[in-house]
Amino acid sequence: MTAISLGMPAVPTKLADRRVSRQIQVGTVAVGGDAPVSVQSMTTTRTSDIGATLQQIAELTASGCQIVRVACPTQDDADALATIARKSQIPVIADIHFQPKYVFAAIDAGCAAVRVNPGNIKQFDDKVKEIAKAAAETRTPIRIGVNAGSLDARLLKKYGKATPEALVESALWEASLFEEHGFGDIKISVKHNDPVVMVNAYRQLAAQSDYPLHLGVTEAGPAFQGTIKSAVAFGALLSEGIGDTIRVSLSAPPAEEVKVGLQILEALNLKQRRLEIVSCPSCGRAQVDVYKLADQVSAGLEGMEVPLRVAVMGCVVNGPGEAREADLGVASGNGKGQIFVKGEVIKTVPESKIVETLIEEALKIAEQMEKDGIASGEPQVSIGA
Ligand code: SF4
Repeated sequence: MTAISLGMPAVPTKLADRRVSRQIQVGTVAVGGDAPVSVQSMTTTRTSDIGATLQQIAELTASGCQIVRVACPTQDDADALATIARKSQIPVIADIHFQPKYVFAAIDAGCAAVRVNPGNIKQFDDKVKEIAKAAAETRTPIRIGVNAGSLDARLLKKYGKATPEALVESALWEASLFEEHGFGDIKISVKHNDPVVMVNAYRQLAAQSDYPLHLGVTEAGPAFQGTIKSAVAFGALLSEGIGDTIRVSLSAPPAEEVKVGLQILEALNLKQRRLEIVSCPSCGRAQVDVYKLADQVSAGLEGMEVPLRVAVMGCVVNGPGEAREADLGVASGNGKGQIFVKGEVIKTVPESKIVETLIEEALKIAEQMEKDGIASGEPQVSIGA
């Protein structure tokens, strides 16, 4: 007799199909096409200080950053590029403003890509032919990085301000100059500090071209505000399938940018979720200190590299339900905690034993997941009811 599986209702795993874009290769990382959306950041060290820059790149790499950009405002910085590009474990993009000569220096140095800002590179349009030739010979992609704050003067005059149309026209104009010389290894960004303008600009750009898109809200602000602006803007675009690589810009250490970027991708299921603590916000019904419990469990599981979902719930209202949905969970009440594993209550422990029991069980499940080959990157903690 054949068994009929009644199954579980299907839950959607993504919000939209990816926009179809051409794929480019930034060193070892593919960007665009069907490549996973990548996370990048930018160093804050003087690039000419090779040791400090490589140290920060190593920290970024450890935090999950996949591509790193370094500024190149002086000849000393340009001279440092070759060593940095060679020693970095992730692809290095040189960020060039004002001086076309540094574009050539970055290409010669073996950078994985070069970002140019057409709004402020002197006589940039006259140099496109030479840049396209040098970039094509070395297979170095170019990011055309348009920024609201440094929009091409011609377009500023035409549109009066950095409108979405102005940002897009600037980017596509520069791209067309490269295309005239047969060069199409291009990705584009059209950044603005206002998420509404930024989202509109990227939507227009996505509709008008097949270039891979680097998403960014420029000058997004301090960590809290910048995180929200970026999450809202990237969320809007990525949920429509728009965006191939992202950079969260924060007035905070770059590793924080990476953390936020990764969490945005994980929240949208564009990256496999890692350790996730589903903890309730607590309320007047809570019979246990949920914040403390969530912190203690998070701390105890720090460094875990498997996609484990741990529910920490303050009472029996949503507790058992959420705890059952998770790989592992606790629903607290009456000085006790019911411990759930894969939907089954495996034991009830006194409140003082909840943390150690959860950690113990989490490690067992993680070990099994690792044996089964279900592993990913760094841990993630999310707090929510
Ligand atoms: S599970 Fe819900 S009802 Fe219970 S303490 Fe947490 S927030 Fe309050």
